[in-house]
Amino acid sequence: MTTRKVVLERPGLLRLADGVEESAAAGEALVRFRTAGICGSDLSAYRGTSPLVSYPRVLGHEVLVDVLQASDCPTLEGQRAVLDPMIPCGYCRACRAGRPNCCVRLQVMGVHVDGGLRETFAVNLRHLYPVPEGMPDDVAVLAEPLTVAYHAVQRSAIAAGGIAVVFGAGAIGLLIARLLVGARGCRAFVVDVDADRLSMAEGLGAIPLQGDEAALTRAVTDATDGDMADVVFEASGNPVATRTATALAGHGTNLVLVGWNRGPIEVDTVTLMRKELTVLGSRNSVNAFPAVLRLLADGLVDPSHLITHHFAFDDAASALDVLDRNQGTALKIVITNGRR
Ligand SMILES: [Zn+2]
Ligand SMILES: [Zn+2]
Repeated sequence: MTTRKVVLERPGLLRLADGVEESAAAGEALVRFRTAGICGSDLSAYRGTSPLVSYPRVLGHEVLVDVLQASDCPTLEGQRAVLDPMIPCGYCRACRAGRPNCCVRLQVMGVHVDGGLRETFAVNLRHLYPVPEGMPDDVAVLAEPLTVAYHAVQRSAIAAGGIAVVFGAGAIGLLIARLLVGARGCRAFVVDVDADRLSMAEGLGAIPLQGDEAALTRAVTDATDGDMADVVFEASGNPVATRTATALAGHGTNLVLVGWNRGPIEVDTVTLMRKELTVLGSRNSVNAFPAVLRLLADGLVDPSHLITHHFAFDDAASALDVLDRNQGTALKIVITNGRR
């Protein structure tokens, strides 16, 4: 039996290819592709700017599947499940310390090894989380990016009712803002240069902000009676945003870095020290899928309106092309198996 897959042969060249259908070994499930989200990291793989990806590669790390066969966990059979794409080594310092999200040898499906854009494939049961009945596919498929946002919010240790600034109204920044507002009762200011993205932030209950460092500082000063933000999240990957973050953070607060800068950047270390800021990196997530699926099931976060485009599996190449050309208006693109 053959099965089709979406292969990124090299930067700029995505094509459908035939593969041999896998069978499930002990501890594995045979699954069928249902829906996948495409994100900024897929785009950098497509553009050839990702430091992590190798070619050729089957993309897909935000994936919803149907479980066809799971002899070691029969209750999963016939259910939908989301895929946790992380493959930590299990024996490095971070893994042994319970932080597999920043494993020294971390591999991610769709990045370092083949991902979920395959009609059928076998996957270890530990990567599968069953999706509650009745949850729309367009909600469930966003569980993976929501785990990334969830982890960043956890890292921030923001208290209920806190005031946060989030740089970057991409999917992760918007999901962070939605979690802050909907699940933590916080006020979230979202900073971006794109007006459409900012109105989306507003639709999620966040307060949109735009402007240079002086204007942003004024706005946050006014909104906090001069206390400044309890937490600043950098989710844009823009060096200017990371620099400005130190200006908007209150004394003795946390700065969470979750956006990928292209390389090392300059920050104002004097302000950092004077305010005694804690700078926290945030990468992937740790055991966040169960909580995230509950937040989605309970409707505290509904990320489905971040989806701007749908493409069929056979048309995955157009999805990357659209994302490449319309990065402003295309926010979250979803690929479906066309069976819905
Ligand atoms: Zn992603
Ligand atoms: Zn490890």
